[in-house]
Amino acid sequence: MYPQIITYLLTFIKYQDQVIRTLLTFLIGKSMFDKPVEKPVNKPYRKLQVDDLPIIETLQKFDYKLLLNEYQEKNGKPLKPVRRHSNSKTTVPSSIKCPKCGAPSDFLYANNGDKGQYQCKVCTCLFNQKNHYSKEAILKCPHCAKTLEKVKERKDFDVFKCKNNDCSYYQKKQNGLSSKEKKQFKKDPQAFKMRYIFRQFRIDYQPLSKRSPQKPKLDLSRLYVSPHTLGLILTYHVNYGLSARKTAALMKDVHGVSISHQSILNYENSVALMLKPYVDHYPYELSDQFCGDETYIRVKGRWHYLFFFFDAVKKIILSYPVSPNRDTQSAILAIDEVLLKMKEIPKNLTFIVDGNPIYLLAQHFFAQHDISFDVKQVIGLTNEDPVSTEYRPLKQIIERLNRTFKGNYRSTHGFGSDHGSVSFVTLFVAYFNFLRPHSALEGKVPVIHPELLQLPNMPARWTKLIGLAQDWIIEQTT
Ligand SMILES: [Zn+2]
Ligand SMILES: [Zn+2]
Repeated sequence: MYPQIITYLLTFIKYQDQVIRTLLTFLIGKSMFDKPVEKPVNKPYRKLQVDDLPIIETLQKFDYKLLLNEYQEKNGKPLKPVRRHSNSKTTVPSSIKCPKCGAPSDFLYANNGDKGQYQCKVCTCLFNQKNHYSKEAILKCPHCAKTLEKVKERKDFDVFKCKNNDCSYYQKKQNGLSSKEKKQFKKDPQAFKMRYIFRQFRIDYQPLSKRSPQKPKLDLSRLYVSPHTLGLILTYHVNYGLSARKTAALMKDVHGVSISHQSILNYENSVALMLKPYVDHYPYELSDQFCGDETYIRVKGRWHYLFFFFDAVKKIILSYPVSPNRDTQSAILAIDEVLLKMKEIPKNLTFIVDGNPIYLLAQHFFAQHDISFDVKQVIGLTNEDPVSTEYRPLKQIIERLNRTFKGNYRSTHGFGSDHGSVSFVTLFVAYFNFLRPHSALEGKVPVIHPELLQLPNMPARWTKLIGLAQDWIIEQTT
């Protein structure tokens, strides 16, 4: 009898809940219960295989100056630049040079009107802007030495494929298929990766280019709060993760200081600008184990990705870019920020990351710039492959970091601007690296700075940290 009544009552409650939701929706004019449509991407990845680098054959190059000399010796007169009709509509932009001999635009014919094909008068090379690169180098399959074909153009890279049926890579893959897989392959060849593939990045980004610190255009002495008040605000908002509104209320109720939550956010922006160069250029002592992870934060009502890279042993956050996209370029930037902090790149450098293919693509990008490191992907917490098992503890470390961040960040309810989000993240990183005792370090702060540690309380340490950052900036820029 009882179970039946309970079941009946539960159904009734569900029904009432439905009615309440419907009525509320009518009342407010929009549904309050729908989950946001736009959600961060969080689906399993198709396993991405990254092949070895191709053989890059640079073509025989000429020097147009030598060619011009040769011409003069042979013909007894110099080769003249291209004569263009005064009413000619086609021009050759001065930025364009012959890819083969380096002759300047004066020696280039605009071959077919304005379609962008050119011919060099000096060496007769025919080229256009698009195949400019292929005239500089030929990519060959490392397994069969046949020239690779460009098969796809993606946002950040071009995909090249070895289409040779006799290629040892292709043959090996073919022979490796079970008879069941062979049938499947006939039906859906796209599901299999059978051929050698190379991705050539078009990302215009030079790794390891040192960026010199810039002096922020602000003067903290012009803020209308005392350093101690600022220290209190930062402690409540960043260390304890209280919202800006609660922090403002606390300042009023406990300390008798009237300050709006907007002023709090503005002050924090200024402090973050001041701290960022110091946090980013600090000479950290590093280990050779690093892990990375992405987490989501909301900026202007949209999901953004925060990339954290972290020294797993020293517990120091090294890289924290915020990006609207979870793409290869963001991964490259995040890793580059870590590499920039190394005095030299260790021989067996390893990054432990999740299963996202962008990290393998990033690894490939750096390999193309002669920077090599290993990427270990830990795929999910339940996955039992050997790599996942071996590196799971490290992965868990960064997931713990993410939780710490989210705990402090949750109350801030997202950020009104890109600026605000970067500010809070910067402050969090400053707090995490310089002020927060870490249980795995026997209660020590990751970066031990005696001047900070001797101070009696947290507001004083924040004030000192800001002071250290200011002094450092002045030292760097004068
Ligand atoms: Zn030429
Ligand atoms: Zn091949």
